[in-house]
Amino acid sequence: MEPDPLFFFPAFLLGAVIGSFLNVVILRLPEPETSIAFPPSHCPHCQTPLRWFENIPILSYLVLRGKCGHCQATISPQYPVVELLTALLAVAVLAAFGISVTAVGMFVLCAALVTIIWIDIHHQIIPDVISLPGILLGFLFSFVSTFVSWQDSLIGLLAGGGFFYLISLSYYLIRKQEGLGGGDIKLLALLGAFLGWQSLLFIIFISSLSGSIVGLIAMRSQKKGGSTRIPYGPFLALSGMVYLFFRPQINELFQLYLHLLS
Ligand SMILES: [Zn+2]
Repeated sequence: MEPDPLFFFPAFLLGAVIGSFLNVVILRLPEPETSIAFPPSHCPHCQTPLRWFENIPILSYLVLRGKCGHCQATISPQYPVVELLTALLAVAVLAAFGISVTAVGMFVLCAALVTIIWIDIHHQIIPDVISLPGILLGFLFSFVSTFVSWQDSLIGLLAGGGFFYLISLSYYLIRKQEGLGGGDIKLLALLGAFLGWQSLLFIIFISSLSGSIVGLIAMRSQKKGGSTRIPYGPFLALSGMVYLFFRPQINELFQLYLHLLS
């Protein structure tokens, strides 16, 4: 079960390559007319196709010092950040779950969350093509996962979707405007399916707390008052990742909290 540290390096490389693919998904998925596979990677500024050595995850960005080799246009640091993040997540699931089906499934979840975070930041949407198959996959995965039982997964996806639907509905009835997007509801159902219903309280608490703090800071700096919109999806996704890797510590803190109350 304990993974040999020798496996961390290949896991990092594989994660970086998959991160490079996620960059393409993040860029092209929200554009309905474009394909994920064609055309091959090119500079978004001068359209020059990338040569193989300009397309190496993380390294190419560093070697080219963040500029296109042809037109010198600045390359967004988002590319190496996504590659590095995905590589680290691959190492993290391996360290947490060993070489196992659970590690593979949780890496799929992490890759979906990374993609959702950036698409939500850029477009304020969470694509159904990721969240809906993800909910089903999370439930099917629970039958082979050592992290969650299928019962906990099923309750998780129903409670995750249902809880947010009720919040959203009551907000709509009171304020006559949409507070939570339908995308956030499906994302919480996705997290509930993969992580179990026990994760939902933590995810809702931490994401709304951190989201409120960031929202207040954004409101003060933009001076637009209550109309500032920041996407909530990234906070949900990040809280889910924290739960995935720190569940024992979170449970311990929760026990401590209950103990202090009694
Ligand atoms: Zn260029």
